[in-house]
Amino acid sequence: MFYYYDPTYIFVIIAVIITMIVQGYMTSTFSKYERVESKSGLTASEACRVILDRSNITNVSIGHVSGNLTDHYAPTKKELNLSDTTYNSRSIAAIGVAAHEAGHAIQDNTNMILLSIQMRLVPVVNFASRLSIPVFFIGFILGILDMIQFGIILFSATLVYQLITLPIEFNASGNAIRTLREYNIMDESELYAVKKVLTAAALTYVAAAASTVLQILRFVILMNGRSRRR
Ligand SMILES: [Zn+2]
Repeated sequence: MFYYYDPTYIFVIIAVIITMIVQGYMTSTFSKYERVESKSGLTASEACRVILDRSNITNVSIGHVSGNLTDHYAPTKKELNLSDTTYNSRSIAAIGVAAHEAGHAIQDNTNMILLSIQMRLVPVVNFASRLSIPVFFIGFILGILDMIQFGIILFSATLVYQLITLPIEFNASGNAIRTLREYNIMDESELYAVKKVLTAAALTYVAAAASTVLQILRFVILMNGRSRRR
């Protein structure tokens, strides 16, 4: 009943294409360096332990988590979880990922302000993003401009979160490269490969933010079209 041709759907298609290209690049970069063993002979979890110990971080435990590329650092629990594929791997890619997560633990240990802002934003952003689409579309169908605008503002909370995440991710990767170098875990040629792996991973965050921008643009164009038709 409410279906009509929506030319702004092109924004969604562009976002999907960007995401697919970046995902493809990340997957190929990862699989390339997953096959290259690090000269140190350390597993990713061992390298992670070295970085934490040498950084005087004693309150963080290193654990296992199932899945592929599910590696993450949980600041509230002081847990650094490495995925099954990463934990026991001696590959350059795995050690790079583990060092990146250790980079987040370092941020937490040094009380990085952005990290605590990000943590506090999680529940707010989850709530706002869940509410945004229904608010937008009900406002759209009923032709209530204020409601449409409120939906877009709620949706923008996701972008704010993503924009805060970007410098955190780049900084964690910077910590990874610095510590792998300083603690003599990798040489320069290996670090070059780690940089490529971590840059590919960071690009997925950039793509996610770009997709959100495109979605907001789409909503704004839809809103303008709707208010003209009134
Ligand atoms: Zn990260």
